Amino acid sequence: MSAPGFEGSYLGAGAKISAQAVMECKICWQVYDPAHGDESRQISAGTPFTALPDDWTCPGCGAAPEQFMVLRDAGQGASQMDSAIARLEADFREIYNGKMRDVPLCNHSLHVQAVGFTDWQGHYLGVLIAPWFMNLVLLAGPDDAWSALHSGEKEMIGFPSGNYEFIHNTRDMVGGYKACSLFSPMSDFNSQVQAVDVARAVMAALFDPEALERLEDGAEPLTPQKPDLPRGEAPKLQKARPLERRAFITGRV
Ligand code: FE
Repeated sequence: MSAPGFEGSYLGAGAKISAQAVMECKICWQVYDPAHGDESRQISAGTPFTALPDDWTCPGCGAAPEQFMVLRDAGQGASQMDSAIARLEADFREIYNGKMRDVPLCNHSLHVQAVGFTDWQGHYLGVLIAPWFMNLVLLAGPDDAWSALHSGEKEMIGFPSGNYEFIHNTRDMVGGYKACSLFSPMSDFNSQVQAVDVARAVMAALFDPEALERLEDGAEPLTPQKPDLPRGEAPKLQKARPLERRAFITGRV
């Protein structure tokens, strides 16, 4: 389909909508969902809006495709998350290659990697691994205005497994973001693969409501400390304090 003068929320930018974009006629509110296609015109399911034939018009009112607006676009959201993650990784790679590379606490068998990022309540949540830390990170979603966050300010954020303390930060490439420290330094990790496994387990534990119930029952976590960690350095577990909740999810893995 040629895409002349698109109107509405994507203003002439037909190339900016993804193959998954669900479109809505702004005249009659007819919806075109590529997952369903358009049976009335023999358009098979899976046909993107931008791949409709040139003579396709609104099945409801006959309006031209230019009259359609983006109702939702999962593909677009995913690509926004991908670029936010790419900026996060690039920012911390630059820090590593700059001022951190010669700092003794860095574990040089590790590299900067974002793991398990997912769309969570309009933000992007995941784990950032770096040679000197592992953090839970919340990146700004499409509707967040986080550029004015005050670095160092603290915020409690609730998840199914409990409440966790995030610290606000801002960086040139990433903009505003929120981070909850999981591990630092990273000297107990043997490999990137191991760090990624732990990051994935943390993401799973974060959304496990039973983790909180077990904690409130006073039960011991399944594996309260990593076996290779000297006892004195194991994360301490107490009830009802945010940092111990954090120790709880990290301690289990
Ligand atoms: Fe219509």
